[in-house]
Amino acid sequence: MNDILHESQFTPLENDRKALGDSIRGRLIHSLGKDPRIATERDWLHAVALAVRERMLERWIFTRRSYQAASAKRVYYLSMEFLIGRSLVNAMLNLGIYDAAREALAEFGVDLAEIAEVEPDAALGNGGLGRLAACILDSLATQCLPGIGYGIRYEFGMFAQEIRDGVQIEHPDSWLRYGNPWELPRPEGLHPVRFYGNLITHYRPNGEAQHFWEDGETVMAMPYDLPIPGYGPGNVNNLRLWAAKATRDFELDYFNEGDYIGAVEQKNVSENISRVLYPNDASQAGRELRLKQEYFFVSASLQDILSRHREDGHPLTSLHDHAAIQLNDTHPAIAVAELMRLLVDENDLPWEQAWSITVRTFAYTNHTLMPEALETWPVALMARVLPRHMQIIYDINHRFLNDVRHRFPGEHELLRRVSLIDEDHGRRVRMAHLAVVGSHHTNGVAALHSELLRNTLFSDFSRIMPERFINVTNGVTPRLWLHQANPGLGDLICRHIGEGWIRDLDQLASFAPLADDTDARAEFRAVKLANKRRLAQYVADKTGVAVDPAALFDVQIKRIHEYKRQLLKLLHVITLYNRIRDGQADDCVPRAVLFAGKAAPAYVMAKRIIRLINDVADVVNNDPLVGDRLKCVFVPNYGVSSATLIIPAADLSEQISTAGTEASGTGNMKLALNGALTIGTLDGANVEIRDEVGEDNIFIFGLRTEEVESLRRNGYDPQSHYRENPELARCLDMIASDFFAPDDPHRHRPIVDSLLHEDRYLLLADYAAYIEAQGEIDRLYRSPEEWTRKAMLNTARMGRFSIDRTVKEYASRIWGIEPRCAGRTRGVS
Ligand SMILES: *Cc1c(COP(=O)(O)O)cnc(C)c1O
Repeated sequence: MNDILHESQFTPLENDRKALGDSIRGRLIHSLGKDPRIATERDWLHAVALAVRERMLERWIFTRRSYQAASAKRVYYLSMEFLIGRSLVNAMLNLGIYDAAREALAEFGVDLAEIAEVEPDAALGNGGLGRLAACILDSLATQCLPGIGYGIRYEFGMFAQEIRDGVQIEHPDSWLRYGNPWELPRPEGLHPVRFYGNLITHYRPNGEAQHFWEDGETVMAMPYDLPIPGYGPGNVNNLRLWAAKATRDFELDYFNEGDYIGAVEQKNVSENISRVLYPNDASQAGRELRLKQEYFFVSASLQDILSRHREDGHPLTSLHDHAAIQLNDTHPAIAVAELMRLLVDENDLPWEQAWSITVRTFAYTNHTLMPEALETWPVALMARVLPRHMQIIYDINHRFLNDVRHRFPGEHELLRRVSLIDEDHGRRVRMAHLAVVGSHHTNGVAALHSELLRNTLFSDFSRIMPERFINVTNGVTPRLWLHQANPGLGDLICRHIGEGWIRDLDQLASFAPLADDTDARAEFRAVKLANKRRLAQYVADKTGVAVDPAALFDVQIKRIHEYKRQLLKLLHVITLYNRIRDGQADDCVPRAVLFAGKAAPAYVMAKRIIRLINDVADVVNNDPLVGDRLKCVFVPNYGVSSATLIIPAADLSEQISTAGTEASGTGNMKLALNGALTIGTLDGANVEIRDEVGEDNIFIFGLRTEEVESLRRNGYDPQSHYRENPELARCLDMIASDFFAPDDPHRHRPIVDSLLHEDRYLLLADYAAYIEAQGEIDRLYRSPEEWTRKAMLNTARMGRFSIDRTVKEYASRIWGIEPRCAGRTRGVS
C-alpha cells in the first residue's frame, strides 16, 4: 500500500483561517447535512469540533507511528474517572488555532464564545481524582510522553445539580444525547469480559493444575477513542473509554427459545455496566454493579494492552519493559488478579514468572486515608462474580503471607493486619492491600499524605517493603487553569515574561519582581476585577443574588463533605452576620462568600449542609441591616466549567479540612495560581503551598495533624468549646433554633447535634483560630497594594504545582518512559 499520509500532508495549523473556514463549512454541510441558513448553535459547535478533530487526527496517527517506530515504553493510566469538562476551546488553544477559528467563524457571523458554551461538560468523574487524571493526560501529550488513558464511557456522567428551595435535586447527565463529535467508536476492537460462571481444574500429567473459567455471562467491551491534544502542539495521545455491548449470543437464545422480546431485554441489562458513574466521593458504594464496572474496564484494558504488546512483536515475558500500568486509586486494583489470570491461565506462564512481570508492571496511587473510602468486597460476592479472581487473590495472599511469616517469625498479628482478606468484618477482600502487594511502587499525592500512608494506613507494608513507598505531589495543568480559564491574567503574564510558562510553569518565578511594581499591581487588580464582574453576572443569572464586585470574593468550592468543613466556613458567615447586626463590624470588609459543590445523593449530612447554607444565605442576603457588607451564595452545579469561571475571580481560597484528612487537594493549587490568597489548615498540599509561597503570603490556622491525633486520643469534648466561646455558642443556638428555618424549626437540629456530640472533624476546636485568621484577612484586604503584592507572589510561586512536574516525576521514578515527539511540534508556517 502507498503511504497516503506523510508529514508534508499535515493540515497547516498557523495562518489557518481560510482552511479552517473551509473545513467548518464542509463539515456543516457535508458531514452534518445542515443548511447554514438555519444551522443552530449546536450545529455550528459540531461542525467546528469536527474541523478541529481533523487537525488532531493526523497528529494522532503520527504520534502512534512514532511510539511504534521507537518501540517506546508506554504508560497506561487506568482510572474509573476522567473529569475532562469541555474540549473545544482547550483543543484549539493547544493546537494554536483559537484565533484563526474565531476569525473564521466571525466571517460566517458566528460567535465562537457563544457556541463553545453549548458544549456539555464531559463529567466522567466526581472531583479531584478524576480531574487529576484529565490533567495528567494533558501533560503526557504536551510533553510528548507515550501514554494512553483507559476508562469507562459512562452514558450518564456526574449528575447535574439543581438547587430548588435550598435543596439539592439531582438530574441525570445525558451528555451524549446529541452525540459526541470528539469520539471515534471502534466496533471492530471488541474484547469479551466474563462474569459469574464456574471453575474447572484439570491436572497435567506432571501434576500441575490448570484452571478454566467457564460459562457465566459475557459482555463485550467496545472502545471509543478520544484524541488528547498536547499544547504547542505536542503529541496527540489517546484516551480509550469502554462501553458495554451485549454479545451476539442473544440471537442464539432467541432461536433456541423463540422468546425474541425476552432475549432483547437481556441485551439491555448487560449494557447497564457502563450506564452511569457512581456519584460517591470519598466513600465506597459496595454494590455488585460497581464491582462489575471495575472489572469490566480493567479486563478490557489489559486485554487491549496485551494485544498491542503482541502486535508490536514483543513476547509476553517482556511486558514490563514496554508497559507501565498506573492504578489511579484502588478502583482498578482487580487488575493485579486479572493480569495474573491472563498470564497464567490464558498464556500458560508459570505463576512465579507471571507474578514477577505483574509486580514490575503495576504501580498504585493512593488517594485517601479515610476508612470509609477504602474499598473492600465481601468474599462471597467476589467469589460469585469473579470466581477465578477470588482464587487467584487467595493464592497471592498465601504466598505473600508465607513470605512475611519467614521474614517476621512469630508476628501473628502482623499477618492478620496485612492479609488481603479482612477476617474481622465478615471476610472481605482488601483491594488496597492487593494493589500494594501487586505493585512496584505505591505513592501518595502530597508529602504529608505519603508520610501518613507510611506511618498509619500502610505502616506494616512500609516495614515489609519500605522501598515501594514514595510521594508524588499532585499538580494542575496551567493550560486549562490559567491560560484558558484566565486569559486576562495569562495575557498580563505573557506581556511581562513571555509565554514560556505555559509549558514550563517554573518560569512564573520571573513574574515575582512585578509584585513590587505599582503599575503591574494595578494591571493585576484590573484583571481580577474584570473576572469578578464576569462571575457576578453569572451568579446573578444562576441565583438571582447580586454580589458587589468590589467585595472580597471568599470561595469554598469542592465536594460537600464533613471533613472539608463547609460548616466551619458557614459558622464564620453567621459570626460576621451577628457582628454586623450588633454594630460591631464597622471595620469589617465587605465579603461575598461563595460556596459550590455537589453532595453524594445518599450522603444525608452533606445534603443537610447544602440546605443550611441556602437557608443562611436567604436570611443574610435579605436582611436590610446587612446590605452589601455580606452576601452568601451557593452556586449550583459545580463542575469543570463553573470552576473555570469562579477560580479566576477568587480573592480568598478556603482550604480548611481537618489536618490529616485531605490527601492533597488540587483546588487549592488552581486558586493560588490565579492569585487568590489561601486560608488553610496544614493539610494535604497546603503544607507545600506554604513552603513555596512563604508563610507571609498564606493564612495558616488551626490544629496540626499530630494535635488532631492527640486530641482524639485523649477524648475530645466539643461541648467545652460551646461552653467557653459565647460567639460560637450563639451561632450554634441560632442553627438549632428556628432562626434560619422559621417554617420548619427543627430542620437543622441534626447538624448541631452532630457537632455537639461527636464533631468528628473538630470544627469547634478550630473555630476560634479560624475566626481570628479571618480577622487578619480583613485587615490585609483593606490595604489593596499589600494584598495585591501577596496575590501576585502566590501566582509567581506556584510553578512547582504544574502537572508537568508531577508527570515528570511519575515518568522518571515510576514509569521509566521518555518523550517521543511526533513530527513537527510547531505546525507549519
Ligand atoms: C479541582 C477540582 C476539584 C477538586 O477540588 P478540591 O478543592 O481539591 O477538592 C473538584 N471538582 C472540580 C470540578 C475541580 O475542577
